[in-house]
Amino acid sequence: MIGYAAICDHHGYVKRMIRNTALLPAVEGQNIRNLFLEEEKLDDLLSQDLSYGVSIRMKLRTEKEVFLTVLSLDSSYLILVYSIQSLEQLPQLVELILAAIHVPEVIGQDPYGTGYYEIQKLNSQLINYQRSLGKSNARLQTLLEEVREAKYTIEELEQDTLTGLLTEKAFYAKAAAVLEQNADKTFDVIAVDIEQFKIVNDVFGTKTGDRLLIDLAICLLDLKTNEWTYITRARADTFFVLLPHTKTLYEEVNKKIVDFLENYPLPMRLQAKMGIYHAGNKELIIARMCDRALMAAESIKGNYNAKYAVFDNAMHDKMLQEQKIINTMVESLNRGDFCVYLQPKVVIETGELIGAEALVRWIHPEFGFIMPSDFIPAFEKNGFIYSLDLYVWKKCCEMLRDWKQKGIRTLPISVNISRIDFYHESLPGMLIEFIREYDLSPEELHLEITETAYTKDSGQLLAIIERLRREGFIIEMDDFGSGYSSLNTLSELPIDVMKLDLKFLNQAEQNLRRQKVLECAVHLADALQVQVIAEGVETKEQAAFLKNMGCFHAQGYLYGRPMSEETFVTRYLTVPGRD
Ligand code: C2E
Ligand code: MG
Ligand code: MG
Repeated sequence: MIGYAAICDHHGYVKRMIRNTALLPAVEGQNIRNLFLEEEKLDDLLSQDLSYGVSIRMKLRTEKEVFLTVLSLDSSYLILVYSIQSLEQLPQLVELILAAIHVPEVIGQDPYGTGYYEIQKLNSQLINYQRSLGKSNARLQTLLEEVREAKYTIEELEQDTLTGLLTEKAFYAKAAAVLEQNADKTFDVIAVDIEQFKIVNDVFGTKTGDRLLIDLAICLLDLKTNEWTYITRARADTFFVLLPHTKTLYEEVNKKIVDFLENYPLPMRLQAKMGIYHAGNKELIIARMCDRALMAAESIKGNYNAKYAVFDNAMHDKMLQEQKIINTMVESLNRGDFCVYLQPKVVIETGELIGAEALVRWIHPEFGFIMPSDFIPAFEKNGFIYSLDLYVWKKCCEMLRDWKQKGIRTLPISVNISRIDFYHESLPGMLIEFIREYDLSPEELHLEITETAYTKDSGQLLAIIERLRREGFIIEMDDFGSGYSSLNTLSELPIDVMKLDLKFLNQAEQNLRRQKVLECAVHLADALQVQVIAEGVETKEQAAFLKNMGCFHAQGYLYGRPMSEETFVTRYLTVPGRD
């Protein structure tokens, strides 16, 4: 009955998780708005002073109805989400949760460690409280007083309950004061972000993940050798440090973090990316300095050799450019600047065409030809991807209908579905509607869903995929082998086609073990009656190698690059002998 409890900022970003549930998985750094269908209602609440708390009914993305209670704690909000049978229980329940989630000592006891375990303990207490609902009226009053006291304690301590470091807000305030009072000195803001931290949580459990964060906090605290150094854990695994600049600072901090992670007792290679904003002149506010340090860190994510990056003019220009591009996305979509390119999928042996993948291109009047890797991640972040994908799917349906009407040979088109699209409850309905509108049958539209969209908690995604499959759509698992739980995904998702990731293929050529794994993946797919298509086939040798191991279908530059519809039709669909 009791569900989710967290403290978030006025944008909805979770600052501190108190109690999580599988149904409501927003953890620190994530946005609670993403959990709900009627986000505007929540936005409305988060812009108000709700010191007495407000409870409303809300719909989760799963359409389940829950109660949401929002209570202001200074500039933060306490969010409680729960489903209860009867409204009469509501006031008591809210009071009980409020009372149970905070005991003043929790924050104060041990700056580095016990906070987390105390919260775990409190979570169990919470369940017990819940059981004794109805009997606890007398106790309620006392508990409420404790809560009020606790509210002041939170503000006084300004501590992140997990690590004991400063909260982001407290860090900004203290760092801003240091920068202002030391106008003659130069400072650096350093962002530290653990790579693949999600894997630590998923594979070793959140307790281990939390322990790692606490230990990293201790390691960073070692950098504090004077009164001008401040450290915060701003979001899940993102830390910021303000330090006075020295010549050797970057190397020293980097070495410290590398030593810490390399010797960390986890059977996994841990790496962190470090980004630096050199606050030579202090024209920016501290929050923007942190953004830039983080942007520098992100610029080297996935780059194995780079350990740290300093924010520079090129990054600044890129940031402005990206922003400029994003500012024009809506008008560009309306103007038809996004083009759907098609890339052939073929039978390796004969070269016979079996379908095409739709890949979007942005032909921008000012910035020219832009590839998906330069805008899709940004659109996934700002939510525009769904509008773009709807446009692409509709265009593909239009193509399929036109081909039919013109008597051109037809063949299925595969469209990509972003994991973000699954948050939209209208997704299956829209696809079904397009098929009807253009008088197609669902098997003419294949749906490519990237393997990494499917994580442990994706019950909702599974339900949508099952529904789409029942409707007759063909489901393709894109980029198979790129995630770290490919076998899980394969065993749980009902799919028709598996697309082997091209990177997987590239590495297979030189590595015998990889070849064996690849071969097994192909056999496994065969046993599951799943068709395999290798993507990224560039050479005849690769094609022969694939055929030998029993993979008979491919897509790649060897057979054709993505091209405009016009070129595709001329080259593959209308010239005799080419298809
Ligand atoms: P994807 O769906 O895995 O598409 C395959 C990518 O591999 C395409 O990159 C394609 O051009 C490229 N490729 C194909 N053959 C070869 C080859 O032989 N060698 C090499 N090196 N690359 C090859 P592209 O078009 O840049 O798209 C990148 C990714 O962007 C796609 O990966 C897909 O995840 C995403 N994407 C593209 N169009 C859309 C779209 O309309 N909607 C969504 N949500 N995502 C899209
Ligand atoms: Mg694809
Ligand atoms: Mg792919």
